[in-house]
Amino acid sequence: MSITALGSSSGPGHTGSRRDAPSRPHAPARPHTPSPAACTIGATLLLNATYEPLCVVSSRRAIVLVLAAKAEAVDVTDDEVHAERVTVAVPVVVRLTRYVRVPYPVSVPLSRRAVFTRDGQTCVYCGGSATSIDHVVPRSRGGTHSWDNVVAACRRCNHTKADRSLAEMGWSLPHPPGAPSGAAWRLLGHRTVDPRWREWLGMPDSVSA
Ligand SMILES: [Zn+2]
Repeated sequence: MSITALGSSSGPGHTGSRRDAPSRPHAPARPHTPSPAACTIGATLLLNATYEPLCVVSSRRAIVLVLAAKAEAVDVTDDEVHAERVTVAVPVVVRLTRYVRVPYPVSVPLSRRAVFTRDGQTCVYCGGSATSIDHVVPRSRGGTHSWDNVVAACRRCNHTKADRSLAEMGWSLPHPPGAPSGAAWRLLGHRTVDPRWREWLGMPDSVSA
């Protein structure tokens, strides 16, 4: 079985409202139709048999894998769907029952979204909500646009620091920034992270100041 066969959903259109049923005010009233497609619009983290994160699939795809005994639910939501005469809790995390081997790229592309994800969406200086990217060593002083020199920052800290060094500010970092690695980052660079995935992705709940 290839990773493609697992139905990884990397394109847009799978990241919409994940908890609320779609409201269709103009749809005619009709009996409830038991179908995963009608009920699940969320995203599910797919783990390898070794619990290594593989990719994100639609919850509908995850349910199909569970019903086919190709995966087992590891964490579920309170929502349920009825399919094939059984009731299934909508999974947040599923684990493949058989190991698949997947090659990963060596490096993770540096993007604003990926930096925010690495730093927990918080400013590394004050712990506030991150809204910008700061170059620790300012680019005007030769700082590079690289994983070990970029951090998530709030606009206020970024503006206050301007083109000065941490030493000049008397500021420090909670830990040295670095390039993320591993399977988790292949799937996190471009999408929002469900908080319930974090423990499986080896990510901190938040970055303290
Ligand atoms: Zn800040």
